[in-house]
Amino acid sequence: MKINQDFDKLVPNYLFAEIAKRVNEYQASFPEKDIIRLGIGDVTLPLAPVVVEAMKKGADDLACKETFKGYPDYEGYAFVREAISDYYKSFGVSVSADEILISDGAKSDCGNIGDIFGKDNIVLVTDPVYPVYVDSNIMAGRKIIYADSNKENGFKAMPDESVHADIIYLCSPNNPTGAAYTADELKKWVEYANSNDAVILYDSAYEAFISEDLPRSIFAIEGARTCAIEFCSLSKTAGFTGTRCGYTVIPKELERDGHNIYKLWYRRQATKFNGVSWPVQCAAAAVFSEEGQKQIKVNLEYYKGNARIISAALDELGISYTGGKNSPYIWLECPDGMGSWEFFDLLLTKANVVGTPGAGFGKNGEGFFRLTSFGDRDKTIEAVERIKKLLKA
Ligand code: PLP
Repeated sequence: MKINQDFDKLVPNYLFAEIAKRVNEYQASFPEKDIIRLGIGDVTLPLAPVVVEAMKKGADDLACKETFKGYPDYEGYAFVREAISDYYKSFGVSVSADEILISDGAKSDCGNIGDIFGKDNIVLVTDPVYPVYVDSNIMAGRKIIYADSNKENGFKAMPDESVHADIIYLCSPNNPTGAAYTADELKKWVEYANSNDAVILYDSAYEAFISEDLPRSIFAIEGARTCAIEFCSLSKTAGFTGTRCGYTVIPKELERDGHNIYKLWYRRQATKFNGVSWPVQCAAAAVFSEEGQKQIKVNLEYYKGNARIISAALDELGISYTGGKNSPYIWLECPDGMGSWEFFDLLLTKANVVGTPGAGFGKNGEGFFRLTSFGDRDKTIEAVERIKKLLKA
């Protein structure tokens, strides 16, 4: 037998392993040091009370013959999809409940969507990039091309009319750069996709962090319904990283190569995925209730407050950055022309603060560094004080 030879083409992902190694080595040498982690991409606050109540009630239903649930519908229960459709309406976007499919998270859907597309398609990703888009397409043997996101374009790569792509991954607000596209910028991508007969795979996992007047969905853009699929997640919106629930939106009219894309994805899911559990779907619906929206905002505001604290310190230090306003991520330029890992070591050893070196997200990440706002408030304050002290010295 042979394994999938394309796995040999994956670049080993050293990033988080290398970070852990350096932190552990440092801590072993200096056990008394209190290291603060501002590199984490995971949430730290608990689920909202109304969400937990709904999940418990869902679990109770399973304990009783009359309310017991077996396999869920492949696309998710209608009441959850309707709640999500209403949520879109709340920010002025119309997608119907039967264009929404519930899943166990955006990572699975972003990684699995390639099943429905041919191997010969050219995939475009913006660099720096969330590694799932790249690795899942390497596994599938596709050719990947890169559009540069850099300081000059505010870390918002734009389409190049002279280059053809078939599948385009966009993530806005972006992980890792925190940059968020405007409606005009997204319109250019939508026009490019429609004129290239391409499909945009739009990852809106961080839409709940948008504070400014920016699109929360690709479907806020005219023309997107004929070229886009949107992936979203409750992970960062409502603290579901461990609970697992996301959703994918595919307009019913989206067709390529003579096929209806919704139908292809439904067929794929029906073959390889058996749905999200009843208690989790009950919890997900509660996120979109009036009370749920109020309660999740408390956590979102807490993280946004952390982001403001980090951003204010960088402003004070005169360090340029993107993100922080519409994103939990703050992407800063390493001071004095330092490389990403050089700055990582400096912060670790001199301020005992851990972040994520930008070089781990692609070539345009070199010289940049990601801090996150998912930490504890007091620790975030302490970390920025240490960073200020170090860099002002
Ligand atoms: N998309 C982006 C851009 C992310 O940063 C993440 C999580 O870090 C995900 C998707 C994964 O979301 P989920 O937890 O729903 O799988």
